[in-house]
Amino acid sequence: MSAIIIDGESFAGKIRTGLIEEIDTLKKKGFYPHLKAVQVGENASSRLYVQNQQKQCEAIGIKYTLDELPADTKEAALTEHIKKLNNDHQVTGIILQMPLPEGIDAKKVQTLISPNKDVEGMNPANMGELVYGNTRLVPCTAMAAVELVKSVSVEIRGKETTIVGRSAIVGKPVSLLMLDLSATPTVCHSGTKDLPDKTRKADILIAAIGKAEMIKGDMIKPGAIVIDVGINRVKELDAQGNPILNVNGKPKMKTVGDVEFATAKEVASYITPVPGGVGPVTVVMLLRNTVEALKISVNL
Ligand code: NDP
Repeated sequence: MSAIIIDGESFAGKIRTGLIEEIDTLKKKGFYPHLKAVQVGENASSRLYVQNQQKQCEAIGIKYTLDELPADTKEAALTEHIKKLNNDHQVTGIILQMPLPEGIDAKKVQTLISPNKDVEGMNPANMGELVYGNTRLVPCTAMAAVELVKSVSVEIRGKETTIVGRSAIVGKPVSLLMLDLSATPTVCHSGTKDLPDKTRKADILIAAIGKAEMIKGDMIKPGAIVIDVGINRVKELDAQGNPILNVNGKPKMKTVGDVEFATAKEVASYITPVPGGVGPVTVVMLLRNTVEALKISVNL
């Protein structure tokens, strides 16, 4: 059996189309989404994220602006800046770009973002709401993983669901979301004994570990739905297991998930690829959260 590949790009496209219509309706009522990004200092990867976010937002009618603060900004000044944005009625969503310079407590500053403008769903108030079943502003990657499970038209109620990883942005919120859908979640971590036993019981397996291709095909229950959240950069190898070099004589790199795709797809019924699975849906969840944040701010 070879699994059906869940196409994250195409699924994200459908959600995007719905958002365009929703934003259009909101604008007709006089409500305009505006996502404010805050970046401290210069960082190549964060600059790339910003450019991508801007492109994605503007493509569907969300205003996107960036506040660039100097690299020597102190935590107190950043805190003041966030507070100013919290009180700015023109700004409906705030995203704090990572990494922040050393000396700034990223988690502390992030929790200062108003829960109503918290498009990443990281504020403890929004995490708390999740416990109560309010899923309006939920961490984007967790929501993406669960939306992809829902995209497979299979009843979730009662399904054994194993989540490997318990981080605050993926594993924990995924387990709460799946619980809310009446699945039976088991959450695994580095202290879990006999991981293959837990993964082999899963009708739905969600891997968010950060370890390249750790979940092999023989760890998967035949017919399971497999959602691979992992993003790992690894060297490309030739048939003998030696690194393939690029034109500059450096090892060629590729992106793989936490699941060994080649063996897993022979066992699973549905599987997300990496890249092209959870990643594109995560981006669109940020857009959806931005629309939700606007609706919260105007009591819709
Ligand atoms: P973290 O490093 O925060 O968490 C990893 C989790 O995996 C931890 O709970 C850890 O356990 C667990 N773990 C590590 N090793 C093992 C093991 N051998 N057996 C069982 N559990 C183990 O990672 P994140 O949650 O932030 O991210 C997970 C993956 O998802 C990464 O590859 C990341 O790049 C990717 N990611 C993808 C996104 C996307 O848009 N597609 C967005 C965000 C992340 P313990 O708690 O005990 O340490």
